[in-house]
Amino acid sequence: MPLKIYNSLTRQKEVFEPLNAPYVGMYVCGPTVSGESHLGHARPFITFDVVYRYLLHKGYKVRYVRNITDAGHFEEEGKQAEDKIASKAILEKLEPMELVQKYTHLYHWAMEQFNNMPPSIEPTATGHIVEQIEMIKTIIQDGYAYERNGSVYFDVVKYNEDFAKKNQPYGILSGRNVEEQLETTRELENQDEKKNKVDFALWKKAPEEHIMRWQSPWGEGFPGWHIECSAMATKYLGKQFDIHGGGMDLQFPHHECEIAQSTVCNHAIPARYWMHNNMITINGRKMGKSYNNVIKLSELFAGNHHELTQAYAPMTVRFFILQSQYRGTLDFSNEALQASEKALKRLMDAYEWLQAQTFTKGAEATDPILDKQLKTWVDELEQFMDDDINTAKVVANLFEILPSINSLKDKHIAPDAISGDTWMYTQQQLKLFVEDILGIRIEAGANLAQLKGVIDLLIEIRKEAKTKKDFATSDKIRNQLTAMGIQIKDEKDGSMSYSL
Ligand code: ZN
Repeated sequence: MPLKIYNSLTRQKEVFEPLNAPYVGMYVCGPTVSGESHLGHARPFITFDVVYRYLLHKGYKVRYVRNITDAGHFEEEGKQAEDKIASKAILEKLEPMELVQKYTHLYHWAMEQFNNMPPSIEPTATGHIVEQIEMIKTIIQDGYAYERNGSVYFDVVKYNEDFAKKNQPYGILSGRNVEEQLETTRELENQDEKKNKVDFALWKKAPEEHIMRWQSPWGEGFPGWHIECSAMATKYLGKQFDIHGGGMDLQFPHHECEIAQSTVCNHAIPARYWMHNNMITINGRKMGKSYNNVIKLSELFAGNHHELTQAYAPMTVRFFILQSQYRGTLDFSNEALQASEKALKRLMDAYEWLQAQTFTKGAEATDPILDKQLKTWVDELEQFMDDDINTAKVVANLFEILPSINSLKDKHIAPDAISGDTWMYTQQQLKLFVEDILGIRIEAGANLAQLKGVIDLLIEIRKEAKTKKDFATSDKIRNQLTAMGIQIKDEKDGSMSYSL
């Protein structure tokens, strides 16, 4: 069965046919490193990691490009276009690049916690200013962008007029049309530079205090967010490539703008298949600052947030996300995560036991019906992945397989009920799907909740030592924990806090 994926551009499931098989080019929008990644970000990271892993399994030679937005992501709301990195750097009293470094490290740490494979290329926006300027120059030359007071804007209305005739209107991906947007977009004070309120910035003139600034034909400034992805995707994957991925929230305006820019420069819609994962809600509500329910990944792993009743291991979160197909909605709750934690443990206990067994080839199954059923469940794993990466069905089938493994383990079925060949096939396919494709890592040793318990105990012992003026013991505990990267802080009120 061939791999089918749902293409947001055509709004249907299509057989995946790469432009130059066995090579596949995939671009996924990476993080804006102005802050720490949160639970909502975990879904695209994990979804596209599984897509990447599955394409590799299918034998494709994949070039997976995932960028780092370290400049140019700004909000056009309000009086001034506000650069996310610049404003956060002021808030944290850091140099912009210091801030970028800090959050890039944290992002890579979270990716590793989730067992996500690194992309083939991870380009940064600041490393590709030249390419972005060149692209903007081409768009101006072709008449689809204009300069105003040192900033450059994309002329959405002109683009739409010309390209709608070629069946490629602005809005081709999101289904929004320009006329509607012209009516509904709010008129903001800073937009008097633009010809039309739907136009978007390709280049922004840098205010005097702005540290991240570059020379350009239009004066000193910085690039817009959308142009960075177009420039880097073109540079590393060519004028047209196979898959472009990201969260549904990026479909408009980000991906719509990418399509418009690249179509002008490269005369083609950049990617053939556009994949978008659905969002995560928290207890039925949208995640957002206004709901005070944004859970950062470090808080999630440490259980350190008012929405959480406990810490959740990264593999539990990964498993929870993969229990749904990526286009479906997914609601986070403590109950749901606890259920995932239990289910994952049951699965991995059986899985690890099965992997440790040795089976012999050749002998006939004494229960041919069960044998055949087990083989069917295992065969279906690949069919479900081929059907638009349906990890939900894959996981469901793993739980169909589970009772057979446990029956063998608990000696409820005869050792030869299922043939050695079928068991070996199950062993091999489960290893492939659980570890290589779903990317579930076998966790060794203590989990985070246990670790926290041990640290709390040590802190208690240290408190007692201090009360007894046994400073040798109290210092020893603090120094040893510090050496392991666990910082203990003595608070003024005599209590102690720590950070991992
Ligand atoms: Zn992007």
